[in-house]
Amino acid sequence: MKLSKEDIKSYLLTLPDQEQSAFIDELRDLSNSSTSPRCKLSRREMLNNKQGACPHCGHPKYVKLGFDKGAQRYKCKSCKRNFTEYTGTWMAGIHKKDKIDEYMLLMLEEKSLDKIKKELKINKKTAFDWRHKILSSLDETGKDPFTGITESDETVMLLSEKGKRSLSRKGRKRGTKAKKRGISDEQVSIIVTADRAGQKELSVATLGRIKKIDIEKSIGGRICDKTVLCSDSHVSYKGFAIGNSLEHHAIRADLKQYVKDGLYHVQHVNSMHNKLKKWLNEQFWGV
Ligand SMILES: [Zn+2]
Repeated sequence: MKLSKEDIKSYLLTLPDQEQSAFIDELRDLSNSSTSPRCKLSRREMLNNKQGACPHCGHPKYVKLGFDKGAQRYKCKSCKRNFTEYTGTWMAGIHKKDKIDEYMLLMLEEKSLDKIKKELKINKKTAFDWRHKILSSLDETGKDPFTGITESDETVMLLSEKGKRSLSRKGRKRGTKAKKRGISDEQVSIIVTADRAGQKELSVATLGRIKKIDIEKSIGGRICDKTVLCSDSHVSYKGFAIGNSLEHHAIRADLKQYVKDGLYHVQHVNSMHNKLKKWLNEQFWGV
């Protein structure tokens, strides 16, 4: 027997109100999930399983409140404000959410912005903005100042035209090959800073080589007179240290010096660079 839409509708109308709306909710969930990004779904699941918290006030009690343009909406029981599964995430305010999954894949495959633009039929500005949002969302901004030995290093995510470039620790040495290639918008610099007490800061700096001002913006607000900066010997770091009267230990990797006085090195943040991609995966795919 084949039911028509009318048959289903008239049957539905014979059900008690509560069952009707439960059924409609289920249908909505179903139709939404087929076009929803996986990364988004895991957050919805988490919220629906009462494992989340209100992004406005942090309260763990909230109730479902229908849908807002395909996004599950909730109402906080404490501050009474509404939020959706996107509120407080990098996906808030993004259109074309159905392309996020594919975007993430292409990004992790390190495809160039031009390739992504072509494959997803989005414009380059959008492709760039998304990447920036994704990377920025990884910022783990602790609030305490850095104390003691504080390692800081830059990593360059270079997305070449050929699409195959790993997140190399130093990427291209500043001022050498990158100059020849031309610093393009395909290159994203990320500053990773960590003290040995566990304070961390990760920020997307610029397109191209980092400057003193980038370091200032990234960690300028979190240094104190107990901060002992450890970095490579690039002039940006030197300038930053001098400008802030910081004790500074510059590691001369160019002279094969990796550890100074058995104490000063940037190996912790370097290993964080290596974990960055894995981190991206975990953050967005729940792997
Ligand atoms: Zn709240």
